[in-house]
Amino acid sequence: MSFTRLRLDDVSRSFGGHPALEGLDLTIERGEFIALLGPSGCGKSTALNCLAGLLPLTRGSIWSDDTRLDTLPPERRGFGMVFQSYALFPHLSVRRNIAFGLQMRRLPRAEVRRRTDEAIRLVRLEEHAGKLPGQLSGGQQQRVAIARAVVLEPALVLMDEPLSNLDAKLRLEMRTEIRRLHQSLGLTTVYVTHDQEEALSLADRLVVLRDGRVQQIGSPEELHTRPVNRHVADFMGYRNLLPMRATRRHGSTQMVVEGEGLRLIGSPVGPVAPGTDVIAAVRPEDLRIAEVQGTGLLATVEVVEYQGREVAVEARTESGLLLNLRTTQRPALGDWVELVVAPARLLVFPDDSSTTGRATDRAATDSSATGSPRTDREVPA
Ligand code: ATP
Repeated sequence: MSFTRLRLDDVSRSFGGHPALEGLDLTIERGEFIALLGPSGCGKSTALNCLAGLLPLTRGSIWSDDTRLDTLPPERRGFGMVFQSYALFPHLSVRRNIAFGLQMRRLPRAEVRRRTDEAIRLVRLEEHAGKLPGQLSGGQQQRVAIARAVVLEPALVLMDEPLSNLDAKLRLEMRTEIRRLHQSLGLTTVYVTHDQEEALSLADRLVVLRDGRVQQIGSPEELHTRPVNRHVADFMGYRNLLPMRATRRHGSTQMVVEGEGLRLIGSPVGPVAPGTDVIAAVRPEDLRIAEVQGTGLLATVEVVEYQGREVAVEARTESGLLLNLRTTQRPALGDWVELVVAPARLLVFPDDSSTTGRATDRAATDSSATGSPRTDREVPA
């Protein structure tokens, strides 16, 4: 059944009294690509299986416009599923695997052929249509699994880590393929992954989960630049998480933080009061080697890792804190470097910043309300 809007209201699932998913509120617009993202065990697959109808809810409801869905069995929801194990019929050709669902629906033979041909063409398997799954590469098998799901023109496609069995190069290729199919077929997709880069590159909106609870829902850009708490920041690649103390306000929007022999100016996220413990978070690419001597914090280079155009550097401050940075400059092992970070790029979170209570996409998306405006002014660290 097609929909304009799919609504998850307080969707919760426990196993033996232990909550695996708690109070998920999410509205999915038709045509959206949503990624459910989070570390292992955070409840991503549970959420997907609740949507699919493979797991009954412990609490809450799921609505397709005004129709209640969570009481319907999986086959009546009309969703397509793609799993990390391709689950193809080994004794059927690519063509027959893809046609299978259409045949089960007893569609006219000509229509089955037309739609199967179209799906084979979409996933670019024309030359392999007569082969058995065992004669295909992993990427090709995953394409068959995707074609088999989309050929039924489902209202929603659910994908659970569909690329996790593929090698790095194929993952990148298939990622592009999935996005292309989503767009060209006008699909609505919910995609589970623990890979933040994959989620950021594919999705219109990301739902970050931790311990079964939503931490933040937002666009890739919102999550990348304004994570709402230290856990999301950690997951979004803020590799430098420095335990410090807020000492005083700096102007109307910034805060001076001190600790580990460092004094930095950062941008508070959430309620940060002077005199409290904080976590100052900065991405490796936002920690820069100072051009002017005497303006930054001093650290010794301990590790330099070649990464193409850039190098990844680990440098240790005088107080013993290890910092990660990425730079196009090539410091040598043992060099002293001076590091600076723009106040707008140093996010300051309360030290106990795990989100509690029911997070909704309305409340959680509004990350702009808690932060300060961004500036690119760089000040001495
Ligand atoms: P992964 O990326 O490792 O697949 P996930 O984020 O998809 O993790 P879930 O599979 O949703 O996580 O599991 C969430 C929590 O619920 C985990 O603590 C898990 O142990 C628990 N859980 C999931 N399925 C069951 C089950 N059938 N019985 C008992 N506990 C379960």
